Amino acid sequence: MSEKHDNLRIIATEEAFATPAQMAAIQQLVSAHTGYDADLNLWRRMAGGGILTDRLLDLEGERIAIMDAAGIDMHLLSLTSTGVQMFAADKAIAIAQDANDLMLGAIERNLTRFTGLATVPPQAPAEAVKEIERVVIGRGLNGVVINSHTDDEFLSEEKYWPILEAIEASGKPLYLHPRAPNRHMIAAYRPDELEYAIWGYAAETGLHGLRLITSGVFERFPKLKVVLGHMGESIPYWLYRIDYMHRMTGEWEESHRKKLSLTPGETFRRNFAITTSGMNWDPPLKFNIEVLGADNVMFAVDYPYQETHEAADWIRAADIPDDVRRKVAATNAERLFKIATPV
Ligand code: MN
Repeated sequence: MSEKHDNLRIIATEEAFATPAQMAAIQQLVSAHTGYDADLNLWRRMAGGGILTDRLLDLEGERIAIMDAAGIDMHLLSLTSTGVQMFAADKAIAIAQDANDLMLGAIERNLTRFTGLATVPPQAPAEAVKEIERVVIGRGLNGVVINSHTDDEFLSEEKYWPILEAIEASGKPLYLHPRAPNRHMIAAYRPDELEYAIWGYAAETGLHGLRLITSGVFERFPKLKVVLGHMGESIPYWLYRIDYMHRMTGEWEESHRKKLSLTPGETFRRNFAITTSGMNWDPPLKFNIEVLGADNVMFAVDYPYQETHEAADWIRAADIPDDVRRKVAATNAERLFKIATPV
């Protein structure tokens, strides 16, 4: 731990857990599935148990010891990808409610260490809205997590808009978390196994984020806040060219692209924030602080998939001013996710 920043308050904002019911339902899918599915393939690898599974299922034991050892004050918890999005709707609803209740119990027993994002079943939009009302508005959870596509569809489809409306009304963010590329994208990734976190997750989730913008979601929901992990799933790096080409090719007479009142870049800066999950690296940190502003970048580890101490040591030592470090490490998360500031 670097001495200079021993007392830095750190909230980690993309920290996964699993529930026994979710794990059992995933293993049922793994057993029943024939053919190839990238997300299930990953679970098939993890089916024998092991450290990742143990750490996902643990909320109040080793997790807190690892946080203590690395100097992490708080986890913003979310049910690990793909949440409940691969289950039949009735099962997805029940497992989401169970996961939210289980998480709320851990939060209530550890108020200074845990906060959490609600899991909802996008495949049942009306039930997802009810669950947002129950646990985000009713019980004080700090936002909603959705793991990119559901049944190969993005949230730009209007049937999902009641969910976006409820999230906007809650005043808390949607965390758009990755999963493997949808069925329409997957073939090109498979020969070299690029469909996982190495590239596929960011390609899928970055495209999803861009589709939210270009489809006009933020014309309808101008106050909706969306959080992207992994330094913005590559969108920030492309904003100049996205704006340039959105304008240029949108003027083609055959273009059927929706006209927007703001450029994609203006919408991204207004409606999105990003986290550092899995990218303990100064250059994109500095770039994103410059492009999006110091108020829109938040720290995350991506526990248990990446190492907690590496991420914590990195943010304490990162080459940024100390006032900006405090924003990235904790105060931006407190503001955007409405996490109570300690007195
Ligand atoms: Mn993650």
